[in-house]
Amino acid sequence: MTDFGASPRGANLDPLNLSSVICHLSFVILKKLWFADGVNPTRVIFWNEYFHEKKDPAVAAVYPKGIHSELAAAFAHDSQLICETATLEEKEHGLSVDRLDATDVLVWWGHLAHKQVEDEIVERVRQRVLEGMGLVVLHSGHYSKIFQRLLGSTCSLGWREAGEKERVWVCLPGHPIARDLPDYFEIPHEEMYSEPFGIPNPDELVFISWFQGGEVFRSGCCWRRGAGKIFYFRPGHETFPTYRQPEVLQVIRNGIGWATPDRPRWIDACPNIKVSPEGIRQER
Ligand code: ZN
Repeated sequence: MTDFGASPRGANLDPLNLSSVICHLSFVILKKLWFADGVNPTRVIFWNEYFHEKKDPAVAAVYPKGIHSELAAAFAHDSQLICETATLEEKEHGLSVDRLDATDVLVWWGHLAHKQVEDEIVERVRQRVLEGMGLVVLHSGHYSKIFQRLLGSTCSLGWREAGEKERVWVCLPGHPIARDLPDYFEIPHEEMYSEPFGIPNPDELVFISWFQGGEVFRSGCCWRRGAGKIFYFRPGHETFPTYRQPEVLQVIRNGIGWATPDRPRWIDACPNIKVSPEGIRQER
């Protein structure tokens, strides 16, 4: 049995080793504090192409300041979140390198203008997701460049605009995104989305929706790409006040919480490991 109390190594700790141990412990403690729930607010950007609301009076009547502003305002009281907005027409679509670097979770709504999102910005967002930034994609964002690129599939689906009822079923009651939700909830009027949904199988399927017309759809899906977490949530057609419904907002809040990074950023790389931990060496 090892006698830890009488360890000669402990008695002879050289000052250099001791200071590196203290340094390491300080780093571990600081890291724990920094990422612990409730210590640092999550920095969120609600991104919206912001087209429908300016072009269509029916949409402007529902979201006069835009879906991005509606969502940011809905969570403005939340002391655990710092909510900002960005739109397509802003310089770099409001997603500069510095701004993305300071963002924990990006929430994405788009529909008419997916093709107008610059590829350079899409790649920038993709890199940040791989590093650990969370991404919450809403409704018609299923066809956004960033969603398709991260998932590597078409993300196609069937749809119908008939204002029918949607019943959202919780599939994983223990999942953080299902927190404080009933077994199911209903949205009185929504656009219908139907399977097949052209996505890779989700790592976790949190919600399935049933529609009044009889179709079903995987409406709450989770994936991980690199160090980042991606959550797709289906509801949110622009002509219905879906983003004012408490259960819907609860899901989005839970999704932001789940997607918030819980560790330092991960840098994707392909290093040549010339010496292994066991001393195996590459000779040339
Ligand atoms: Zn829609």
